Amino acid sequence: MSTYVFGHTSPDSDSIVGAISLSYLKNQLGEDCVPTRQGEISAETQFILDTFGGTLPELKTSVAGEKVYLIDFSDKAQAPKDIMEATILGIVDHHKLGDLTTDTPLECWIRPIGCSNTVVYEMYKAHDIEIPKHIAGMMMMAILSDTVIFKSPTCTKVDTKAVKELSKICGVEDYKKLAMEMFIVKSATEGASARNLNTRDYKAFEMNGMKVGVNQLEMIDISALDDRNQEILDDMAAMKEEDGLHTMIVLLTDIMKEGSQLLCLSDDVSKIENAFNVKLENHQVWLPGVLSRKKQVIPFVQPQFS
Ligand code: MG
Ligand code: MG
Ligand code: MG
Repeated sequence: MSTYVFGHTSPDSDSIVGAISLSYLKNQLGEDCVPTRQGEISAETQFILDTFGGTLPELKTSVAGEKVYLIDFSDKAQAPKDIMEATILGIVDHHKLGDLTTDTPLECWIRPIGCSNTVVYEMYKAHDIEIPKHIAGMMMMAILSDTVIFKSPTCTKVDTKAVKELSKICGVEDYKKLAMEMFIVKSATEGASARNLNTRDYKAFEMNGMKVGVNQLEMIDISALDDRNQEILDDMAAMKEEDGLHTMIVLLTDIMKEGSQLLCLSDDVSKIENAFNVKLENHQVWLPGVLSRKKQVIPFVQPQFS
């Protein structure tokens, strides 16, 4: 019986590439692992697969009775609905510890660094397993995506070192140039519906019995969305209703200006205003320097709900 390896819902490049890179490592170690995904992939991830000739993991949204490895998350709200009926063999992650628990001992590789694929890279080294060229290239791009080309405050020396070593394995010298091409692909919003924009990098969190949804768009220039502001807010209101959210947040992150426009609809907007010590105007505010949801947003929002 195969073990399934997958990342969070609304999978990003780290989740997809992580499923591939961790499965390959486990297979080399004698386990029978299959990379899967919980949803459709982004244009950014497609770019990475195309560039390095990676194979799209199969879609799998139900895991009852299966053995699984989780990568890039440990929150129940980001897992398949029947995750508690699966056996979690291990977690590889770089987020806050979520609310998933297990009945049996598990393998855990969780580190406060820039990317799950950096953790996987460390695992390859620990097991002395060679990384195939195409997987090295995809891991390198996942790290460059998650760390916003090393600009994110989540980025550590471990991540930059991993990228440099992976770039040698995959033979891409000018990895920053390739990463900029990737962010241009990621920034494309023309023709995308408001719902598409609002779910591109959407994550739900359970905060003291209240559900908080946070979507993030990382773009080279967020002014491309200036005239779609109201449309985005209207769809956020619809999502808030549909998903029974207490609070719905959208971060429009400008990776060149290095900050985020925070859009928020909440049953209690003072929680969000207090979290960042700001006042919202037309449901939004500019947060200079804020690039990371996991390090600069969730740790400030969560305490407001406890
Ligand atoms: Mg992720
Ligand atoms: Mg990640
Ligand atoms: Mg990200």
